[in-house]
Amino acid sequence: MSFFKKLFSGAPAKRDKNYYTFNVKCNRCGEIIEGRVDLDNDLSLEFEDDRSIYFVRKGLLGNARCFQQIEVEMKFTSTRELIEQEVKGGTFVE
Ligand SMILES: [Zn+2]
Repeated sequence: MSFFKKLFSGAPAKRDKNYYTFNVKCNRCGEIIEGRVDLDNDLSLEFEDDRSIYFVRKGLLGNARCFQQIEVEMKFTSTRELIEQEVKGGTFVE
């Protein structure tokens, strides 16, 4: 507990959350599911071809009675621009 207190006490004023949102359509039932990547917390730093990139993997589930798990993988640059995205179990839609 003390660790978290210490962590937050000196933190600067909370800025607006930085999210990347997207929609995927389930291959099985056609449901459109909205996904959201928290660009401040969800990304993990990786090194690829001498550059650093940010990587995130998300598992999404729709509401209905569909058990298809949709797995999304995205890569961002250090300035949080999307460079690559992949989806299994669904497709990206606008
Ligand atoms: Zn589905």
